[in-house]
Amino acid sequence: MTKFWLLVIAVIVIFLVMRLARNRRVKRQASETTGKAAAPEEMVPCEVCGIHLPRSEAHNGGHAYFCSEEHLHCGIGKRQP
Ligand SMILES: [Zn+2]
Repeated sequence: MTKFWLLVIAVIVIFLVMRLARNRRVKRQASETTGKAAAPEEMVPCEVCGIHLPRSEAHNGGHAYFCSEEHLHCGIGKRQP
């Protein structure tokens, strides 16, 4: 009867060790993928309204950045008398 309980305990221990190893592998893979995806991007302010947005989404007016086409024309109009 003792052998039976030793076998049961051994099976439980093996199951827990395999589960722990799998969890560690999943966490490591998740951190690797999020680390690659979360590259920081420079934020730039709109010259007209001051809202900050990623440089790749901003409209470049040469001297400054703008949040939209409308503010791009608005901002350029302000600069030229
Ligand atoms: Zn704006």
